[in-house]
Amino acid sequence: MASSSLPSGVGPATRLVHGGTERSQFGETSEALFLTQGFVYETAEDAAARFAGEAEGFVYSRYGNPTVQMFQDRMALLEGAEAARATASGMAAVTAAMLACVKAGDHVVASKELFGGCRYVVEDLLPRFGVDATLVMGSDLAAWQAAVRPNTTAFFTETPANPTLALVDIAAVAEIAHSAGARLVVDNVFATALHQAPLKLGADVVVYSATKHIDGQGRCLGGVILSDQAWVKENLDTLLRQTGPALSPFNAWIMLKALETFPLRVRQQTETAARVADALARHAGIAKVIYPGRADHPQAEIAAKQMTGGGTLIAFEVKGGRDAAFAVSNALRVIKISNNLGDAKSLITHPASTTHQRLTDEQRAELEIGPGLLRLSIGLEDAEDVVADLTRALDSVSAKTSVSVG
Ligand SMILES: *Cc1c(COP(=O)(O)O)cnc(C)c1O
Repeated sequence: MASSSLPSGVGPATRLVHGGTERSQFGETSEALFLTQGFVYETAEDAAARFAGEAEGFVYSRYGNPTVQMFQDRMALLEGAEAARATASGMAAVTAAMLACVKAGDHVVASKELFGGCRYVVEDLLPRFGVDATLVMGSDLAAWQAAVRPNTTAFFTETPANPTLALVDIAAVAEIAHSAGARLVVDNVFATALHQAPLKLGADVVVYSATKHIDGQGRCLGGVILSDQAWVKENLDTLLRQTGPALSPFNAWIMLKALETFPLRVRQQTETAARVADALARHAGIAKVIYPGRADHPQAEIAAKQMTGGGTLIAFEVKGGRDAAFAVSNALRVIKISNNLGDAKSLITHPASTTHQRLTDEQRAELEIGPGLLRLSIGLEDAEDVVADLTRALDSVSAKTSVSVG
């Protein structure tokens, strides 16, 4: 295997096309898929040396694999991180990252506005092993500060948050975490690496569901954890090797190749999302639109400070509650109903009845997940087709409503 080093200072698109590539003796142009569990050694001495860490080389794909390695190296270049470790899913990444920060008797602080699985890990799973969790509203800096205990070792947050696109000031929360001696873990799925760099804002660990924009075409599950080399080596590597949430080399290969088009895709999806958000805001059937790229986002000043673009997701509330939200979803012909996001296909979901069904009415009310709220993930279709689809659906529902009211 040979890796060719890129000239220093090349741009992000160049890094995502060439970065991390290692060529076999065949000199293949496109990165190879090493679909293998194990590796053979020339001699027994060679095997012993590799196990002892005295010789370079792979030993078993649960520990490492050339294709997975290429994906990790390319992700580290994208994020500007010292080290990246791939996992089988985003939830495997979140779980491992949090487990690597705590032991029984420790305490974590997390925002309430979290992806369902993430909320389960901090709120239900960690406490079963003697790690208490305090959940706070992510925007309430005083609450983060007040939640700190002498045994607090980790903070966890997600911004923009699913599904309401509420924002958390990463630099401010990082400062509180660090003054408490805790590490800040940020789930950066919604913003993507294109629009937000948590490590540069002071976060210590970034996690992704690669299932979303990194694959970008709705095919494979995957996850990534990025941080500094020392923490990864000391706290994460043994945990990953011995518990086995390894990413399949096949999925790693899909993700590795998908990174080549990542900036093009996410930039286009963001451009379309901004147009769609503006069109929705003008429609009479809409009660409110929440998009981090719009000046009327409730926390626009945080978006301006830490994001370089509004991202590919829009939350909006239709007038008429759940019935209207269902009717609009059902009337769409280009946009598909799905709880996934970050796909090439535009996808819409009704959080209150799907992804956030598990929460109580009070919890949903606190997070402002109302019955009329819809979350829209913008894909790669022509922007005018997405706008037309939503306009047609909203018009048809508004027409029916005014007839029944009249
Ligand atoms: C999807 C998602 C996850 C979980 O990722 P999986 O790949 O589905 O396990 C975690 N956080 C956020 C914000 C997500 O959107």
